[in-house]
Amino acid sequence: MRYVSTRGAAPVLGFSDVLLAGLADDGGLYLPERWPELPPLAELAGRTYPEVAVAVMWPFVDGDVDDDGRPLSGAVDRESFERIVAEAYATFDTPDVCPVVPLGGAGGTGASGDAVLSESAGPELHLLELFRGPTLAFKDVALQLVGRLFDHVLSARGERVCVLGATSGDTGSAAMHACADRECVDIVILFPDGRTSEVQRRQMTTLGASNAHAVALPGTFDDCQDLVKAAFADVEFRDEVHLSAVNSINWARVMAQVVYYVTSYLAVAPEPGAPVSFVVPTGNFGNILAGWVAKRMGLPIDRLVVASNRNDILTRFFTTGTMEVTEVVPTTSPSMDIQVSSNLERLLFEVIGRDGAAVADLMAAFRADGTVSVSTEVLGLLQGEFDCGRLDDESAAAVIRSVQQRTGLLVDPHTAIGIGVAERLVDAGVLSDASVPVVCLATAHPAKFPDAVQAAVGIRPALPDSLSDLFERDERVEHCDADLAAVQALVRRAIATTD
Ligand SMILES: *Cc1c(COP(=O)(O)O)cnc(C)c1O
Repeated sequence: MRYVSTRGAAPVLGFSDVLLAGLADDGGLYLPERWPELPPLAELAGRTYPEVAVAVMWPFVDGDVDDDGRPLSGAVDRESFERIVAEAYATFDTPDVCPVVPLGGAGGTGASGDAVLSESAGPELHLLELFRGPTLAFKDVALQLVGRLFDHVLSARGERVCVLGATSGDTGSAAMHACADRECVDIVILFPDGRTSEVQRRQMTTLGASNAHAVALPGTFDDCQDLVKAAFADVEFRDEVHLSAVNSINWARVMAQVVYYVTSYLAVAPEPGAPVSFVVPTGNFGNILAGWVAKRMGLPIDRLVVASNRNDILTRFFTTGTMEVTEVVPTTSPSMDIQVSSNLERLLFEVIGRDGAAVADLMAAFRADGTVSVSTEVLGLLQGEFDCGRLDDESAAAVIRSVQQRTGLLVDPHTAIGIGVAERLVDAGVLSDASVPVVCLATAHPAKFPDAVQAAVGIRPALPDSLSDLFERDERVEHCDADLAAVQALVRRAIATTD
């Protein structure tokens, strides 16, 4: 497979170069040159998660060759890929990796106007648990694989990188767990001192890996993010320490997420070929983009639903065709509190006919004005594929309550946003076909956001057994001034001290 940039002006690359590059040279995002077809669904049914993962992803990895057909340095061979996939998903606490559990039938609205699950004739709802990895959130599904792929490619090339990132909680802990003890990677994650949850902080500070550094800074997440950007902008420093990132625009993360659409489809479809709909709590458009890719590869997906919290740039865009930045408001689903949905650029590239120059113009207008609109024709194409909805914190809390009352399950606030939007679209007649199952993606374990869950239902969710001693483990936190020179000195020290 070869990869092209959404802005059409960067070199065409193979998989291993796209993996390490992240962003393309022209500021665009890489996408495969063409969409491979899924293997026949009947052949995938009954296979293990790692087996399906290899079958779905291999066409994206294969063909990393030069003009004469010789494998490029760092190209991932099939046998290594199978081993890497098996190792990545062995870190999950169930062999199913991303299990599906029933949520019951949908339909009907409670007297209070809150969405409720009832026994009416709506479609069956299912919960796809994406939080069974080491840090209890869906980012583990992609990052456990990507960390290992990085290591494999770097080691074959005799290179080493330092992953530098800022986090408000979730991404940083998942990235640190993915990079801990990898041979060719150091990782330094900056977080705002005192502003992450205790679970999130402890997931970063109790790893005990000499190559993984959790760094507390005075200030906010934005201060941390600005320092990371400044470090990357210092080209001399960037080259000296081989800075790298594993952010959500990395193609390999999207690729890894395609797999669970396929496995959950197989789990709930009445027969191979029958339609299934998906509802996805999303902010950056990363998770749901993977669903769209699965559909392009031939998965019989009926509707793909974007579920937003109050930071609803995506829902406004899919409703009006105008993408407009507004201020971020903090919510009880903080991992969706974003201003700009970077991965949307990949979808735009597709719907406007893979015209890189047109995408570059759109993104330049968006950057300059903070707003940009697509044509009614493009909006029509988007609405042909996606539905959307948004939920505020109070409604999300009501969903957490109603799910708990009806099924006994505790769901986290991000997951509740998706379930609530699903309920509303059932009521609105959008997801009304009772024969089409609906899969709601559960993106975090409830114990990752215990305060919001407790406020909603009065029950404090317990950590799973694998993390039950999290609060007893020794923490290692480094402290640093919120100043570029100090961060750079810390990165240099961090690299020098890895065993
Ligand atoms: C990151 C994250 C999301 C949003 O993911 P997108 O990439 O924006 O789709 C949703 N829920 C949780 C718990 C997350 O950590």
